[in-house]
Amino acid sequence: MNNSVLRASGDPMGAAIYDYHKNGKAAKLRVFSSQFDEDEIPVEDLFRSFEDMPELEQVALKAAQGRILDVGAGSGCHSIALTGMGKDVMAIDISPLSVQVMLERGVHARQVNFYDDSFNEKFDTILMLMNGTGIVGTLDKMPAFFKRIKQLLAPGGSLLIDSSDLKYLYEEEDGSFMIDLADDYYGQIDYQMQYKNIKGQSFDWLYVDFDTLSYYAEESGLKAELLYEGEHYDFLARVICP
Ligand code: SAH
Repeated sequence: MNNSVLRASGDPMGAAIYDYHKNGKAAKLRVFSSQFDEDEIPVEDLFRSFEDMPELEQVALKAAQGRILDVGAGSGCHSIALTGMGKDVMAIDISPLSVQVMLERGVHARQVNFYDDSFNEKFDTILMLMNGTGIVGTLDKMPAFFKRIKQLLAPGGSLLIDSSDLKYLYEEEDGSFMIDLADDYYGQIDYQMQYKNIKGQSFDWLYVDFDTLSYYAEESGLKAELLYEGEHYDFLARVICP
């Protein structure tokens, strides 16, 4: 499992977040994938306030309690909203520029890779939002992911994580789904990002349906429950140690 952090020269999303923080605007944050056409992440969306957040995220923030860890926190939008609600939150991210921005915005942030087990504090809530399951990478890494979650959760604690079932991408006109079961799991996406002339390395980013997430949680001795279902195959799950 890769547990390193990024350097600023290979941190396109962090550079976009940094520009937006400094100047109130940013250039295009471009997203490439071997599976899709080129896309773009609107950088201002990464700075969304509680009111601008989708209901799924608002539900997650309201449910977060105790000592909270915001994993892959980006600009710190969720951490800032949680602090505003009087909650106790720490943020981690592999992006040096995002961590710098979070510190400047008053977030208690550290540049840490989620998989680095020299980081071994305990949290009552682990929050992973904006396709939080992305950090798992590929389905075969699900056991290692949940092992790490169990190390970080305090007794009685829970993971709040969102994802989307990408099966809709394979929907035929008659409503059936054309999925090749011999192929890799359909939610395994490779991405690469570019901001100005800064191009990041390609990485695996997993989207997973609730039943598959729940299956792997149970294999690890955990229990997943559906907290919220969005309108477009997206959902929020709570995973607990029963
Ligand atoms: N949660 C934020 C940002 C989502 S983008 C939001 O909703 O706006 C995903 C973030 O996860 C990026 O900032 C990326 O740098 C970070 N990230 C990716 N892999 C990580 C890892 N292994 N450990 C910590 N952060 C990671």
